[in-house]
Amino acid sequence: MFQKFLGGRTAVVTGSNSGIGLGIAHELARAGANIVLNSFTDAPEDHALAESLAAEHGVEVRYIQADMSKGAECRALIEKAGACDILVNNAGIQHVAPIPDFPAEKWDAIIAINLSSAFHTTAAALPMMRKAGWGRVVNIASAHGLTASEYKSAYVAAKHGIVGLTKVTALETAKEPITCNAICPGYVLTPIVEKQIPDQMKTHGMSREEVIAKVMLQRQPSGQFATVEQMGGTAVFLCSPSADQITGTTISVDGGWTAL
Ligand code: NAD
Repeated sequence: MFQKFLGGRTAVVTGSNSGIGLGIAHELARAGANIVLNSFTDAPEDHALAESLAAEHGVEVRYIQADMSKGAECRALIEKAGACDILVNNAGIQHVAPIPDFPAEKWDAIIAINLSSAFHTTAAALPMMRKAGWGRVVNIASAHGLTASEYKSAYVAAKHGIVGLTKVTALETAKEPITCNAICPGYVLTPIVEKQIPDQMKTHGMSREEVIAKVMLQRQPSGQFATVEQMGGTAVFLCSPSADQITGTTISVDGGWTAL
């Protein structure tokens, strides 16, 4: 739909060796952007993934290992990328438990990876965007950035936080050709969701099928999971000229969840 209008731009996508981050990397590459893939691992498969993405879309793709739970590594990722016209803050983890039982180290890790990492990468990327005279920050929040669910205290707090960070970033760049927005997905069937199913089964005393139908998709009026391709397409739209005046806002891709 958008041709290769992102040719010559470099996109850094955090947490992009699987799921939504990888889906977004594919769609940005399809639109012509060079890509920096990232995760905390440094496995041969990570580098092979970069090679296959490059071959599929005919763009440059590098894989840079960096742990998004550590502020210095978040900033180093952007420095190593060398250019960052498009920053997609996507890395995220989840843990599900009632507040009294919620492990403090899980709280700290979720706040660090799902929220603080975006502060550090944005701080490192904005000077590069200003120098280049153009920039797009796309934060992957969640329907849980706008609403809450029980047993997800850290995740909901971090996602509401990233919606707030999105607004502040937009205000601080409003007079420049830089925008910052948040995509708020509903449920997308990726590893992060797969990993929640056993915990939810235990917490609710339900089967896998019941958790999917009665806990997860019960919140999604469409009754369907959203897809990683749809998240990628939304990110590409936010990088298009049509979105030049869209900044500081959230776009829900949630099958109607937040309309309830
Ligand atoms: P996923 O588990 O497939 O992907 C998470 C990515 O983050 C992986 O690439 C993983 O390697 C990476 N990651 C985890 N810890 C990291 C760390 N310390 N440093 C660097 N990378 C790290 O899950 P996903 O569903 O693709 O999630 C991506 C984002 O989308 C997350 O921010 C998540 O909260 C958000 N989201 C997902 C859904 C959903 O239903 N899947 C819904 C709303 C929002």
